[in-house]
Amino acid sequence: MDTAEIRRRFTAHFERAGHTPVASASLLLDDPNLLFVNAGMVPFKPYFLGQETPPYDRAVSVQKCVRTPDIEDVGKTTRHGTFFEMCGNFSFGDYFKEGAIELAWDLVTKSRDDGGWGFEEGRLYPSILDGDDEALGLWKKVTGLPDDRIIRLGPKENYWSMGVPGPGGPCSEILYDRGPAYGPDGDFSAEDRYLEFWNLVFMQDELSAVRSKEDFDISGSLPKKNIDTGMGLERVAFLTQGVENMYEIDVMFPVIEKAMELTGRRYGADHTDDVRFRVVADHVRSSMMLISDGVSPGNEARGYVLRRLLRRAVRSMRLLGFEDRALPELLPISRDRMAETYADLHRDWERISTIAYAEEDTFRQTLRAGTAIFDLATTEVKQSGGAQLSGAKAFSLHDTYGFPIDLTLEMASEQGLSVDEEGFRRLMTEQRDRAKADARAKKGQHRDASAYRAIADGMGRSVEFTGYAEVVSEG
Ligand code: ATP
Ligand code: MG
Ligand code: MG
Ligand code: MG
Repeated sequence: MDTAEIRRRFTAHFERAGHTPVASASLLLDDPNLLFVNAGMVPFKPYFLGQETPPYDRAVSVQKCVRTPDIEDVGKTTRHGTFFEMCGNFSFGDYFKEGAIELAWDLVTKSRDDGGWGFEEGRLYPSILDGDDEALGLWKKVTGLPDDRIIRLGPKENYWSMGVPGPGGPCSEILYDRGPAYGPDGDFSAEDRYLEFWNLVFMQDELSAVRSKEDFDISGSLPKKNIDTGMGLERVAFLTQGVENMYEIDVMFPVIEKAMELTGRRYGADHTDDVRFRVVADHVRSSMMLISDGVSPGNEARGYVLRRLLRRAVRSMRLLGFEDRALPELLPISRDRMAETYADLHRDWERISTIAYAEEDTFRQTLRAGTAIFDLATTEVKQSGGAQLSGAKAFSLHDTYGFPIDLTLEMASEQGLSVDEEGFRRLMTEQRDRAKADARAKKGQHRDASAYRAIADGMGRSVEFTGYAEVVSEG
C-alpha cells in the first residue's frame, strides 16, 4: 500500500464510524509551550481542556508533526523522523476505551480487500499501563488474544499528561513484531523489533501535580472522558511496503535515490553513509514543510531549527562526497512526492525554494570561510610535528564559523589528524553552562534560547542533546 492509500483508508474507516474529518493544522500553531505541533491532538487542546466546546463528538485527522528532540535518532533508528504525519481519531466525551480499541483493532487487522490494513494478528502486541485492568479486559475481549500477549508497561511509556491542572490518563499501544532480525524474542525494549505504531490515550484523570513521567497526583476523574490516538503514517507505510525503515517508503526514498545519483555512492553499502542518506531524505522533507508553513532560517527558536535542518542536509551531502549545490536537486524531488497531499508546495514553490536555496548559499560561504581557517590550523599542527587539532581550535571553528564538529572531525581525519574532542566538549559544556546561568538570570523574560542552541549543539555527534520542555508528552 502506498502512503496515500494508508492515509485514505485511515480517514475512510473513521468517517464511516461517524468521525468528522478535520484538515491538518499548520505546524506553527500558537502555543506558548510548543515550538512546533508535535502530535495530532495539539489543535484539539482547547476541547480537551474544556476551554471550548467541540462542534463534533468524534473527529479524525492526519496532522503534520515536527519533533526536534528526535533529531539525533533520525537515520539511526528505523522509525524517527523530524517531520512525520500523525493519523488520529478523537472522541470528546463520546466513546471511550472499548470503542477506541475496537476501532483501531478493526482497521489494523481487517483484510486489505475489505478496506483494512491486513496485519497478521500473530505479529501484533497490544500494551497497557500496568494496573489498567479495564483496558486489559477490553483488549482480551475485543481481540481474543491470550493474557500473555498483552504487555504491561509502566507510566514512563504508558501514562499521558500535558501539564497541570489538566487531563491525564493511561495509554495503550499497538506494537508490531518485525522478527528476530531486529532484537531478541520477548525483549520489548528492543523498540525497532517490537515497533510501536499506534498510541491510544484514554483521558480519564484530573491531575493536580506532575513532577515527572512517573510521579504525579491524580485528584479526580474527568467529568467527560476523552480519546486521543496517534498513529504514525510512515511507520505503517514501511511495515506494509516491505522496506527496512521509514526513510525508504514511497514518499521519501526518491530523495535517497537522487542523492545516490549525485554522490555516486550506493545506499546499503556502508552504515555511516546510509545514516547520512536517511538524514538527507528526512531533513530535506522537514525543512521544506517548515518553510511551507512560514518558517525562515534564523538564529532563534523556529528559524534556528530550520537553519540547522537545512545545514545538516547540505553537510550530509558533502560528507557523502557531493560539494555542489544540493538543495536545488533534492527539494523538488521531495516536493513532487508530498504535493499530492500538500498542494501548497506547488502553489508556493517560488518562495519555498528561494528561501531554502539562499540558506544553502549562505552556508556554503560559512564553509568556505571556516575551511580556510581549518586549513591554516592543520598546516600549523603538521608543521609543529603534531597530530592533533586542539579542542580550542575545534571550538572556535564551531563557535565563530558555525563549523559543525563532525565536519571538523571528518576533515581532520582526511588530513591524518585527530581532534581533541574532549577539550572541545569541555568548552561546549562551559559555554552551555554560561548560557544556562544567563537564562536563569533573565528568567521571566523570553523563553530559554539556549535550548534551541542545544538543538544545534546536538548536531555534533559527541554533544548531548538537552532538549526542551515538550508539553505534549511522548508516551
Ligand atoms: P517512540 O517511542 O517510537 O519514540 P512515541 O511513543 O514517542 O514513539 P507517541 O508520542 O506515542 O510516539 O506518538 C504517537 C505515534 O506517532 C507513535 O506511535 C508513532 O507511530 C508516531 N511517531 C512518534 N514519533 C515519531 C517520529 N519521530 N517519526 C515518525 N513517527 C513518529
Ligand atoms: Mg518518541
Ligand atoms: Mg507512544
Ligand atoms: Mg513510545
